[in-house]
Amino acid sequence: MPLRQVEGQDRPLRTLRRALASGRLHHAYLFAGPDGVGKGLSAVGMAEALLCTAPRDDADACGECAACRRVATRQHPDLHILERGEKAGGGTERSIKIDQVRALQRALSFKSFEGARRVIILYDPEAMNPPTANALLKTLEEPGPDTHFVLVSGAAHRLLPTILSRCQRVQFVPLPREVVARHLAERAGLDAGAAELLAGLSEGSVGKGLALVQSDVLAQREALLDRVDDPEGLRRVPELLDLAEQLAGRKDDLELIFHLLRTWYRDVLLAQEGLPDEALVHRDLAARVRARAAQLTPRQALARLDALNSTEDALARMANVRLSLETLLLRLVGAQPRRSAA
Ligand SMILES: [Zn+2]
Repeated sequence: MPLRQVEGQDRPLRTLRRALASGRLHHAYLFAGPDGVGKGLSAVGMAEALLCTAPRDDADACGECAACRRVATRQHPDLHILERGEKAGGGTERSIKIDQVRALQRALSFKSFEGARRVIILYDPEAMNPPTANALLKTLEEPGPDTHFVLVSGAAHRLLPTILSRCQRVQFVPLPREVVARHLAERAGLDAGAAELLAGLSEGSVGKGLALVQSDVLAQREALLDRVDDPEGLRRVPELLDLAEQLAGRKDDLELIFHLLRTWYRDVLLAQEGLPDEALVHRDLAARVRARAAQLTPRQALARLDALNSTEDALARMANVRLSLETLLLRLVGAQPRRSAA
């Protein structure tokens, strides 16, 4: 998809299109921002613009030539994609392997196939461990003439400073609520009311909205809150430990579960600040948000948000899932943290 067709990201795309039109391109861009807001589409659009054989006057891709079509279907020989592999038993690998980086470097040591330019799109660069990232550094710093890197990251804060410093950062933002609602209505066949609510829960990410539609996490939201956000929770620790074990077995759902809980406590804070129901993500549960806001102090709500964030970071660093979740659930029902590792 050419850059001009990517929706809701006018500011970052203006930067890119200006660089394309002037020919003053950085050799490595980092597209940073939440998942599901158009970073990946824009990376493909950038690759199309760079490899298109009939670009428009403004240097955006034509979107129709053979080169553009081959980029869109990942079949262009001068487009290299580096991403987490598929696991044999299904699912995605947690990390990008050093062998993948070496294979890329071998491919780049040959001449480009079609023209002068080559494009490397690197998805989830934060999924490289330090040795893998270090192996990539030299190539990232001096990729060779007419070779362009686009790193696409939903968690740029986890990237090594050495990677960050070699990239020009382009910041993507959450999409406007109405754009997300329209996409969800079209792509998931939702009516306007359901799409609007889901757009709020998705925080400007079409990808997250679609993931919520496809999983049963949203349907279980109130049951989950009953157990996780229970003022009496500290009286039933064994049940919490059982729940931690169950959640540890739902690895694919954890990101959405964290998302729901994070937006929940943020809503509690907003309600404590006196914001109206329309400002809440969980506006359909506004009465429940307000009841909880009256029970907790802002400091307690913040402590719960902090527990969620630090647990998610720990899991990204491959901490013990069950132990991390046990500690998290205890903190969410009001236990004081004893270790910082969780
Ligand atoms: Zn083209």
